[in-house]
Amino acid sequence: MGHHWPLKTAMVRIYAALLIIALAFVGHALGQRAALQDEALRARGVLTRASDRLSGLVDRYRYLPAVLARSADLQAAPDAVSLRLGRIADTSGALAISLLDPQGRIMAHSEAAERPRPLTQDRLWRPSFRRALDGGLGISHEVTPDGQRIFTFEHPVATADGQITGVIAIALDVEEIEGDLRGDRDVIFFTDGNGVIFISNRDQLTLRTMAEPVTEIGQYGGAVPEVSTGRMDRRHGVPVMRGIDVPGLPAEAIHYERQMARIGMQAHILTDTAPALVVARTWGLIGALAGGVAALVLALMSQRRATTLARLAERAAAQGRLEAKVAARTAELSETNLRLSREVDERIQAEAELRRVQGDLVQAGKLTALGEMSAGISHELNQPLTAIQTLADTSQLFVDRAEPGEVRRNLGRISELAQRAGGILKSLRAFARKEGERPVDVDLADVVADALGLLEQRLEGVVVHWAPRPGLMVRGGRVQLQQVVVNLLTNAADAMEGGRAEIFIEIATQADHVTLSVRDTGPGLVEADRIFDPFHTTKPVGQGLGLGLSISYGIVQSFGGQITGANADGGGAIFTVHLTPAAARAAA
Ligand code: ADP
Repeated sequence: MGHHWPLKTAMVRIYAALLIIALAFVGHALGQRAALQDEALRARGVLTRASDRLSGLVDRYRYLPAVLARSADLQAAPDAVSLRLGRIADTSGALAISLLDPQGRIMAHSEAAERPRPLTQDRLWRPSFRRALDGGLGISHEVTPDGQRIFTFEHPVATADGQITGVIAIALDVEEIEGDLRGDRDVIFFTDGNGVIFISNRDQLTLRTMAEPVTEIGQYGGAVPEVSTGRMDRRHGVPVMRGIDVPGLPAEAIHYERQMARIGMQAHILTDTAPALVVARTWGLIGALAGGVAALVLALMSQRRATTLARLAERAAAQGRLEAKVAARTAELSETNLRLSREVDERIQAEAELRRVQGDLVQAGKLTALGEMSAGISHELNQPLTAIQTLADTSQLFVDRAEPGEVRRNLGRISELAQRAGGILKSLRAFARKEGERPVDVDLADVVADALGLLEQRLEGVVVHWAPRPGLMVRGGRVQLQQVVVNLLTNAADAMEGGRAEIFIEIATQADHVTLSVRDTGPGLVEADRIFDPFHTTKPVGQGLGLGLSISYGIVQSFGGQITGANADGGGAIFTVHLTPAAARAAA
């Protein structure tokens, strides 16, 4: 984006320059046109006023000779007439008034003979004099021998029967007429039929010709040189004279002319175009300024646009950076994810491995247990079987010797041993089948009493502390609960073999259950966390299968209770059976 900048700036500058030039041009052209047309309008007005003034002035004297011609006073003595003409001239403002005879000789004159007389004798040859002799009004203009420019009106003096006896001539001072025009800033002049400038508010123009130069001395009292008035042109529909080469006159001017038929002249005006050009330049400048302002506004707008574009680009770049960052982060994350899932897979594999190893260990443990069990069972069963065999063999001898008493005794012994073997198998079956009893409400004191009754012989020499609390009912099977209590008491008795033997049996009601605890004074538990495992036993082979506590655990659990074993504070082991009270069930 950035590298387009210089080019753009250059383009903006070119546009601005073009705009300024164009607006300057248009401003100049429009300004010039308006100013020129304004000036043209004004010039026409000025020209009209100037020519009206001239014709008004001329009209003032037009009828004076006619009035004078009819005056009877003209018949008086020439001196009296002269006196009278002098007075009239003074009053009317005419330069001179004279009475001439038809041959052009002066008969009376407003000026005394010794003073210069503008109207001289050679009038006879003037067309205007001839016109007066014909009975009309002769209008003429000329330069007197004194170099005075005059306007003349000549009117016939006729008798009552129409015979022309003379001519009244009135001369007007052209300089006086010019006095009205002087001070006008426009150049005003009047040309006659020869193209000679006769009246003008610029001295340098008077008695100059715009047409062919006049060479003979006549009407103009001398030669009339040419004046370089330049050539005609048009600007914005306005006639303009260019290349005027007269000192004190503008080089270029608006030019209008107007015919003045009554006095046989043409009125001209030259209005300098310079002010209009100044106005045009001003408008051009205003146009340029407007162009500059517009260019500035455009430049500012374009700069703002550029700034906005740059900002947008910056934003896009930032977005791009952000997206790149996000992409990088995403890649990082997905890589991490991949690594994690690989780790998870490894974990799963490791776990599976662990489980397999654990399974192997369990299997190994089971095999060990099975080995222990078969060793225990075979030993347990082997002893009574061997004894039975021996007793049977000896019984044969006793039969041969006809000693029936001995035979009877042996048979009794065999029966006992068979019973013992049966007991072993029975406990195995109980473990294997986990046969259940439908739970009923059982008096816990009765259960303990039954167990104590069964074990009367086994507990010989053991002090049993037991304060029965009849009527405390729990949920359970009477036979199975009794089996649990028998097992606990047997274990206690086994543990206390050969030492101080006391058993404490207690029944208590807790918040939501009933407890039965059996405490002994034996050595306590060696491996407290393994005592409920099946086939775990510390007793010598042939003494225990390690199933008692395991079976008890299952029984208590089947009645919704719990059994725990721990070492008591004062030594010895304490087993606690937690059972659901019958009342709780009833309430439930
Ligand atoms: P067995 O009596 O055939 O060994 P049990 O499951 O009844 O099987 O007992 C498991 C083991 O728990 C016993 O071998 C013994 O080590 C331990 N045990 C049980 N009761 C007691 C007790 N009152 N005092 C000490 N050890 C006990």
